[in-house]
Amino acid sequence: MTPILPGATIGFLGGGQLGRMTAFAARSMGYDIHVLDPDAACASHAVASRTITAGFNDIAAAIELAKGCDVVTLEIEQIHPDVLDAVAAHTALRPGRAPVYIIQDRIRQKQWLQAQRFPLGAFVAAASAADVDAAVRAHGPCIAKSTHGGYDGRGQVRLREPEQAADAWDALGSRTCLVEKMISIDYEISVMVARRPGGEMAVYPPSRNHHTSGILTWAVVPAVISDAMTAKAKTLAASIAERIGIVGLLAVECFVTTDGELLVNELAPRPHNSYHHSERGLATSQFEQLVRAVCDLPLGSTEVHAPSAIVNLLGEVWLQHQPPHTTYALEVPGTRLHLYGKAGARSGRKMGHLSAVGESAQQALGRVLESYRRLSPETIASFDVHEPVLAHSTN
Ligand code: ADP
Ligand code: MG
Repeated sequence: MTPILPGATIGFLGGGQLGRMTAFAARSMGYDIHVLDPDAACASHAVASRTITAGFNDIAAAIELAKGCDVVTLEIEQIHPDVLDAVAAHTALRPGRAPVYIIQDRIRQKQWLQAQRFPLGAFVAAASAADVDAAVRAHGPCIAKSTHGGYDGRGQVRLREPEQAADAWDALGSRTCLVEKMISIDYEISVMVARRPGGEMAVYPPSRNHHTSGILTWAVVPAVISDAMTAKAKTLAASIAERIGIVGLLAVECFVTTDGELLVNELAPRPHNSYHHSERGLATSQFEQLVRAVCDLPLGSTEVHAPSAIVNLLGEVWLQHQPPHTTYALEVPGTRLHLYGKAGARSGRKMGHLSAVGESAQQALGRVLESYRRLSPETIASFDVHEPVLAHSTN
């Protein structure tokens, strides 16, 4: 295969912060950037030489993007399959249609993982409120998730009793949904895998992740888990990446249960919020790695150069206090502020992140959480930012 060399143009379906950060990395390596996004003022706009303003189901616009690019990748999986086909007919689409099609529907994704015998929690594809009711009766507390478009905990309803089934069904738009048994989680991790067109892979060390109400609060690498769990999670993620045929990046989100079982939560065929620390502490950031993978360049090392952590900055930080205490926050050693250039702060909207490096994962996490408390003492209450002791769990 011929590598796509600096000077070429990389196209992005989606212009959010993931595309923006990848575009920065691509620009640094000498590539030009074109973007397709419904919002003309999207986060990637500032980094792209061309922004095509169109929906993710607009075939003509996607063809226009493809014609101007040497390769097209994506930073969001909710792209209409016909659009993926149209792009692939005109230029290299990486990742290709097949993995994105599987992943973009939560039920299809779970059924594929099950058919491949990857470890999962119990789930049901519910086609009616009665199915949701039956799932809760069979499995106890559950989470119902819309099949498409949910992210950051949106499009999800938690149920404790079967009596809540009708309301949950309504809340998710009375459409077929995924109902998952509520897992008793010890901790959450993710594993990022990069894969080139020829199959060469690079697997990152697992990231340890903490969520509040379904939204990622912080992530830290190394994960401070046992060597055995690290090896198991990396092997699992690599075999999923290979089996699904990803070219580019595949993030594998996992639960480790209180019984010590490793389960797959969900997949993402793109950069992932839980690896933003890779820009600080790992030899190759996930963003540079995506560029290398889709351009078929040698993959970079995934070695940890420094333990590093991030905390997300949601719209609340700007809504509750103007302006945030940036100067005070950045006094914490090892910290950096990264903002995505989004104009309007909204509750739950990811506006940026703080990162920190340290001599240990515990120190990096402590620093970034301290920086966050300083930045926005007013929003601590809405976000679980207590610092856990990252001791080696028995799991
Ligand atoms: P999203 O696409 O919004 O990231 P996820 O399915 O990953 O959706 O859910 C977000 C978070 O909600 C997870 O990281 C986890 O903390 C919690 N969660 C999701 N599914 C379950 C489950 N079956 N059991 C327990 N917690 C869950
Ligand atoms: Mg998730």
